[in-house]
Amino acid sequence: MSKDLFSVEDQAQIIEAIKLAEMQTSGEIRVHIEPNCKGEPMDRALEVFAELNMHSTALKNGVLIYLATADKKFAIIGDKGIHEKVHDSFWNEEKELLKEHFSKGEFTLGLTKAIYKVGEKLKLHFLYQSDDTDELSNDISFGGKADA
Ligand code: CA
Ligand code: CA
Repeated sequence: MSKDLFSVEDQAQIIEAIKLAEMQTSGEIRVHIEPNCKGEPMDRALEVFAELNMHSTALKNGVLIYLATADKKFAIIGDKGIHEKVHDSFWNEEKELLKEHFSKGEFTLGLTKAIYKVGEKLKLHFLYQSDDTDELSNDISFGGKADA
């Protein structure tokens, strides 16, 4: 289980990062972690995005960080509201940051740093509103079983 790679403290840190990032922006961030990804991580991330019903935000500003721990694959994607505002450089910088940490096995550090950066960037385009609601759960979504 990929979940075993994340201690209770690790998970709490990631959830806290999401909570803090979402206090800066109306954007919603989710993290999905599973052991394996057979194909392209981008394709799988799109699938997960739909499974988690992440298209349901009012401003179409959900962001998913997808990570397949055993296969060392990951992707970061955003809904169309974000794509209309940001350039590819936004995603590329995030990818570089994640790659740098994931390659060293620093999953929690990479995730929390990337989450903060997403919050920083999203606040430029999607201001936090005083009546903000938590449209998408901050909990980590764990999926799949490791290949036997
Ligand atoms: Ca929110
Ligand atoms: Ca949320």
